[in-house]
Amino acid sequence: MPHSHLAANWADVRHRVDEACHAAGRDPAEVTILPVSKTFDAETVRAAMALGLHRFGENKVQEIRDKAAAMDGCGIEWVVIGHLQTNKAHDVARLASEVQSLDRADLAAALHRWLQAEGRAIDVLVQVKTAAEDSKYGLAPAQLPAFLDSLRDYPTLRPRGLMTLATHSDDPHVVRGCFRQLRELRDQAAARGHDLPRLSMGMSGDFPLAIAEGATEIRIGTAIFGPRAMPAAGPVAP
Ligand SMILES: *Cc1c(COP(=O)(O)O)cnc(C)c1O
Repeated sequence: MPHSHLAANWADVRHRVDEACHAAGRDPAEVTILPVSKTFDAETVRAAMALGLHRFGENKVQEIRDKAAAMDGCGIEWVVIGHLQTNKAHDVARLASEVQSLDRADLAAALHRWLQAEGRAIDVLVQVKTAAEDSKYGLAPAQLPAFLDSLRDYPTLRPRGLMTLATHSDDPHVVRGCFRQLRELRDQAAARGHDLPRLSMGMSGDFPLAIAEGATEIRIGTAIFGPRAMPAAGPVAP
């Protein structure tokens, strides 16, 4: 039973989400858990489906291609949560049910073009950079209003909310500040006529703080699937 840990992990995460909701005075039904299956194979995703899960987050389009091919016709919804190169837009338009990492104009234009060709429309979340680290992607908060306005030119992209990754920090105030900023940006956008009900924020290590700040969706990898294998080491430098 190589996947027997999944059911227990899933139940544990669900329980901790419920606790965080109660602590924050929120209804647990308001918070969706997006299982993040990146680096885990199709067989593992199949085992997770046996728990009733059918929507999975992935950060690499190539992995979605491979898993979708291995699981043809399973009715899975693939959610893109990782940084997207524009040249991957065609595959995304074919395979993804949703993109949470929309962070720039040329990507929006490319996705729209391929979605039109496919005759599809998808939900998108705009990824905003709230973290201090340079390594994190996302639109600068100051650019959000104009970017949201520009999405009106792309009817195949349905903006539903915002997404962020918090600063990696041991200080809960720093982490929580990132989540609070995303919620405030959402509220400011609402005042300008953009209805963005969804806030995708919080991962295995910080989701209770995100729930306290209003997350409607948390993206959980490690706490469900276990630790990810380290990438294979490259050749050792001489
Ligand atoms: C990997 C990843 C997650 C999940 O991270 P865990 O810490 O394993 O829960 C969430 N969001 C994004 C964008 C990711 O790339």
